[in-house]
Formats: sequence, C-alpha cells, structure tokens
Amino acid sequence: MKIVAIDGPAGSGKGTVSRILSKKCNLLYIDTGAMYRSIAYQVLKLGIDITDEEKITDIAKNSKIEFIDEKTYLNGIDISKEIRSMEVTKIVSPVSSIVPLREVLVGMQREMARNHDVIMEGRDITTVVFPNATYKFYLDATTPERAKRRYKENIIKGINSSYEEVLENIKKRDYNDMNKSVGALKIAHDAIYIDSTNMTIEEVVSAMENVIENDKHKEV
Ligand code: C5P
Repeated sequence: MKIVAIDGPAGSGKGTVSRILSKKCNLLYIDTGAMYRSIAYQVLKLGIDITDEEKITDIAKNSKIEFIDEKTYLNGIDISKEIRSMEVTKIVSPVSSIVPLREVLVGMQREMARNHDVIMEGRDITTVVFPNATYKFYLDATTPERAKRRYKENIIKGINSSYEEVLENIKKRDYNDMNKSVGALKIAHDAIYIDSTNMTIEEVVSAMENVIENDKHKEV
C-alpha cells in the first residue's frame, strides 16, 4: 500500500495539507494527533490523574477511534470539536509521553494503513510508525508563524484562546514533543524537509504533490 508520512511541530500546516492531498491523491487521511487528543479528552472527562499510566493505557486499549468524513469518532461519538479545546491541548503532550499508551496507538495506526493507501501525519510517523513509508516529509515553520496560524484557526473554530496562550502552549509542546524518550519529534534523515514559513498552502500542497505524482507507481 502507498503511505505518505508527514511529521512536524504544531501549526506547521500538516493537517491542512494532508486534508487537501488526501482528496487530490485519493488517500485515507489519518490524523494521529487527533488520536492522542481523543485519549486526553477521555482522561479529562473521566477525571483520571494524568500520571496514572496504567488507567490511561487501558482507556486506549478499550477505545475505538475512527475517522469518518473528516470527523473524529471515539466509541461512535463525534468528538471533533471537543478535542481541539485548550483544556485538551494543554494535557495532550504529557499524556502522549506515556510509552505503553504510544504502543497501543502506534499499533492502531499501522492497522489503519493495512488495507488503504494513506496519508498519515503526526510526530513519529516517518521515524517510528512507518520508517519505510513510500514518501516522507517533515513540515516546518518558525514558532511565531505557527502560533499565528493556530490562533487564527482557533478564532475561526470558535475556540477561546489568546495569542500569548497559544504561543506559550506551542513552545511547551515543541519542547516536550522533541524530548520524549519514545516517539520524539525528529527530522528523519530521508524525509523531504519543507519550511512553509513563507509559503502559501497551495505552494506546499503543490511541492508535495509533485513528489507523489511524479512517482505514481512506487509502493512499499
Ligand atoms: O498534531 P496535534 O497538534 O493535534 O497533536 C497533539 C499532540 O499529540 C502533540 O503535541 C503530541 O504531543 C502528540 N502526538 C504525538 N505523536 C503523534 C501525533 C501527536 O505524540 N504521532
């Protein structure tokens, strides 16, 4: 199957370009950040201590996460909006540092790509989940640019946050995500690096599409 793997920090544009490319190139879009967010959402909802690794890993083992029509479903319930709240955003990085939890979600991610051509984005897709992916990209942008994008997105989505709060959260998540013992955000040596700071979405999509379309028959 064809696997397009994209990693990069928060606000680098992974979600936006993946959604567009999934339609253009007929690939199933898998947002792995939404999977970690779904577990973080359950942790908050059930009032579980974020240091309780066993309970949190059990939540993941007993959860069904699905992506249908660009929405995220947890055990059959659409939680697409809830998982973008600042409350979830603030705890998702520490929750995602739990190693046994990662093992469960990585297993689910590999399973999701078993019968479909996919475009999968996150932090460890090019390094851990699919180091042999058909195409590997690392999408980047400066920290203030990423915070600006996320802040604008939050306004459109009706999520309550100030620019300062978004910038602070992005800095914290970057640090935590880059320093995890397992699944840390890294640039894979064979990934195509794209700095999107001064690029439009269309430019990024077209740069990636050129790579994918120019090599249509390549498969893992
Ligand atoms: O992509 P998004 O910003 O929604 O991801 C939320 C958080 O989930 C990240 O900050 C990171 O801590 C975690 N994550 C991860 N591994 C992935 C995807 C996301 O640890 N593959």
